[in-house]
Amino acid sequence: MQDYAVKYYDGQSSRSMNAFLMLRDEHWLILYRDANGVEQTVRWELDQVKKIDTGSVVNTFHYGDFPHQSMEIEDPDFLRDLNNKYPGHNFINPAYHRVLSGGWKTMSILVAVTIGLLALFAFVVVPNGASWIAGNVPRSFEIQLGEDAYAAFIATQDEDSLRSRLLNRFAQQINFDTDYKINITVVESSEINAFALPGGRIVVFSGLLDRIKSAEELAALLGHEVGHVKHRHSIKAQVRSLSTYLFVSILLSDINGVTAVLIDNAKMLSTLSYSRKLEHLADEEALAVLEKNQIDQHGLVDLFKTLQGEAGKDPEFLKFISSHPLTSDRIAFAKKVARGQKELEEYRDLERIWEKIETRE
Ligand SMILES: [Zn+2]
Repeated sequence: MQDYAVKYYDGQSSRSMNAFLMLRDEHWLILYRDANGVEQTVRWELDQVKKIDTGSVVNTFHYGDFPHQSMEIEDPDFLRDLNNKYPGHNFINPAYHRVLSGGWKTMSILVAVTIGLLALFAFVVVPNGASWIAGNVPRSFEIQLGEDAYAAFIATQDEDSLRSRLLNRFAQQINFDTDYKINITVVESSEINAFALPGGRIVVFSGLLDRIKSAEELAALLGHEVGHVKHRHSIKAQVRSLSTYLFVSILLSDINGVTAVLIDNAKMLSTLSYSRKLEHLADEEALAVLEKNQIDQHGLVDLFKTLQGEAGKDPEFLKFISSHPLTSDRIAFAKKVARGQKELEEYRDLERIWEKIETRE
């Protein structure tokens, strides 16, 4: 009886063993020496042996359920010998055959479809789902979220309560065309920044307030931040960043990471960065508020100039720029709108409060 030199894989380790194969009427015998040099015999029942079509010159056979034992044989006469020994026996597993006979083409399609579904989820389902969630969050939840974030934030800051009061008085003179209750806090900090929390809280850092030179500029800044509040931008940005994170974490089964992010929730709200699109929307809102209140829209242009003028001078500015992209098209847009504004009434009340803010009276 003839035997064949084969490579045998026991299904447990990826190491191959040199073995001999003997064909019997109802089964195959595979003989090899294990790592300890002990001779082993494996018996494969004929009806569970499946030939795998790999498309190469090596013939591969699997045995049993996963993890399969397998065997590779290079002998060019082997298939002919099989036919002679077992006439009419079909070693080919139809399911395997269908996928693998397509070879690389079928596999590439499967891989492409999988990648496509993941991309669809990451770039379409997550962002649009985030917008939908953000648009449908109940107002009471939004306010609570903002209050929690504010409490976590202010606990580590020094408030300038005099200027907080004055800024709120200033804001009360302006019709922001919103039913959110706007509540402004001035914080002592060299940071040149301002941000809006969900529900109507706005934080202005003294580093930015000290650089503002006019009532119009301040009104523009508040109009911009109120725009973020009205359009629920911080919820949108947060749900989006959270859902992308959740998606990636679930993909990687990183539950600890998910928990950490949920705990960090409140902190993230003050450092969110908005897309250009959301910044542009907030600018449009600021210009509309200035127009509605008959305040010079050049205030927004001046605000941009103030921010731009600080670029390069102060490393704190870089922080602002990285979270509020200030682009030339934003400035050009504000200039264009402001040029078209009709003659304006004076706004003495606003100017008077602004003087107090400047002189800290
Ligand atoms: Zn903004």
